Amino acid sequence: SVPAAMASGLSAGARRGLLVKGGAALETIGAATTVAFDKTGTLTAGRPRVTDVIAAEGEEEAVLLAQAAAVESGSSHPLAKAIMAEAEARGLALPAATAQAAIAGKAVAASIGGARVSVGSPRHAAEQGAVLGPLAEAATRLEGEGKTSVLILSDRRPLGLIAMRDEPRADAASGIAVLKGLGVRSVMLTGDNARTGAAIAASLGMEVKAELLPDDKLREIAALRAAGDVIMVGDGINDAPALAAASVGVAMGGGTDVALETADAAVLKDRVTGVAELVSLSRATMANVK
Ligand code: ADP
Ligand code: MG
Repeated sequence: SVPAAMASGLSAGARRGLLVKGGAALETIGAATTVAFDKTGTLTAGRPRVTDVIAAEGEEEAVLLAQAAAVESGSSHPLAKAIMAEAEARGLALPAATAQAAIAGKAVAASIGGARVSVGSPRHAAEQGAVLGPLAEAATRLEGEGKTSVLILSDRRPLGLIAMRDEPRADAASGIAVLKGLGVRSVMLTGDNARTGAAIAASLGMEVKAELLPDDKLREIAALRAAGDVIMVGDGINDAPALAAASVGVAMGGGTDVALETADAAVLKDRVTGVAELVSLSRATMANVK
């Protein structure tokens, strides 16, 4: 019977760490034409490490790193953790920072000794009217290497930049290749800059939409849905709206309780290949139903 075939598909998935909340979601997964992936923490491990620190003319590396770490100390963003870890590894004493505030998808800022210090994307720095000079060229070069550059500004004066690299998960390229073999298109959605996104997407053999603010991600998902059902795969709290906007939302990895509540399915291990396994499971189950 149909319910029996569905139930056995759902339990076969559960044994392999692929949780699907019901038959409707299981059916849609196998019919999807596109999988949209969040980058940070989903295609990558979400643990960026500092690779380069470049001081602006007349500034000091240790000072800009200590100020950046002080600004980031109130943030739980993966980039914040990377900057704080580097400051700690170098044994830097952090200045006191107050009035910390995040600018979603762009930057974080705080007051240090009467100055407003921000740490954020090159685009945010440009929007602030900062004159970046050679730092802009350095950021462009580092982004071409798949690194994320953030600019540190003190009252709009650039102190320097910090570059970080977040390595793709070991099975990300093979997971995308298996999806391609199943006839499913993969698109990376990221708030990161276009060059960094393009470098990482090229290494994984997938398409990319970059420099997306949270609302832009929802619009991209709606646009992709015009061509067929879309699976959105994400990990964190800020992915919940995107998971809900897709035909099927899939939470990956340790995930957060919020992501798991919003999602229609979950891949319990951090495996990009688990998404392709979900598609195969759905198709095998639906073949039994018919
Ligand atoms: P992603 O979609 O890759 O998870 P986010 O939307 O979290 O990216 O962030 C987009 C960009 O905004 C980052 O690449 C960075 O330039 C900037 N940004 C966001 N939060 C921070 C932060 N805490 N510190 C520095 N830069 C940040
Ligand atoms: Mg994110």
